[in-house]
Amino acid sequence: MTRGRLAPTPTGYLHVGHARTFALAAERAAGGTLIYRTEDLDAGRCRPEFAAAALEDLRWLGLKWTEGPDVGGPHASYVQSQRLPWFREVWSLLQATGAIYPCDKSRKDVERSLTAPHAEDDAEPIFPASLRPPVGAGREAREPDPTNWRFRVPDGETIAFVDALQGPQAFVAGRDFGDFLVWRKDGFPAYELAVVADDHAMGITEVVRGADLLLSTARQLLLYRALGWTAPTWAHAPLIVDAEGKRLAKRSAGLSIRELRQKGKTPEEILTAPSNQLLS
Ligand code: GLU
Repeated sequence: MTRGRLAPTPTGYLHVGHARTFALAAERAAGGTLIYRTEDLDAGRCRPEFAAAALEDLRWLGLKWTEGPDVGGPHASYVQSQRLPWFREVWSLLQATGAIYPCDKSRKDVERSLTAPHAEDDAEPIFPASLRPPVGAGREAREPDPTNWRFRVPDGETIAFVDALQGPQAFVAGRDFGDFLVWRKDGFPAYELAVVADDHAMGITEVVRGADLLLSTARQLLLYRALGWTAPTWAHAPLIVDAEGKRLAKRSAGLSIRELRQKGKTPEEILTAPSNQLLS
């Protein structure tokens, strides 16, 4: 029986891309369990009003989840900011395997040590292996704070998986992505740790999300392996683009579920109409 999830991050209003990805997640989990989990770990950018709006928008679209807010179960168990003890436990499990290390390098250090500028401006630069501490660093730590922690990737290894929607995928550790953050010095887990910790704890069997997270899946597979946990299967939804091929998520104006609703669009149109029709 499928256990799927909707995992909105309340840093803004949900847009049409979220609507379609979440509708797909609901469809693929039909007859099984669908969990609604709020991913609000970025305290600086998340707002309670966006969390409330996300719930309201998804309800209005007609999505129905079976665990999480509104449908029973202690609400706090499905809100990541309320789950810090669990994330600290997972940090401990990882630390005991020797797979992660404390890292005091800043973004500037990383940029300075790179020979070539990164191709995409907004992409995270690949953490250079030359900045790693020796193996065993951080072995004595009992707490993650107040330090950043990174996962040491197996350089040169190809991380391959078959995505249910995008087909076979392969990313090379150390080339397509480098040592990634699992813990932030502000006392919160990084996205990759939190999402794996919760997908595992909630027994998720299939992760449905946007194709912009395909590379993250390679990182997350390394976490599952280090932790000795069985990974779910993956279905990355295509990103919606406009007539010029530009990602709709990059355009802010007019495409939030609320704005479209105010313009009189129906849930059906938001979920299925071609993007140029929605923009008109
Ligand atoms: N919370 C993430 C987002 O809204 C989704 C993470 C995931 O589905 O793994 O982008």
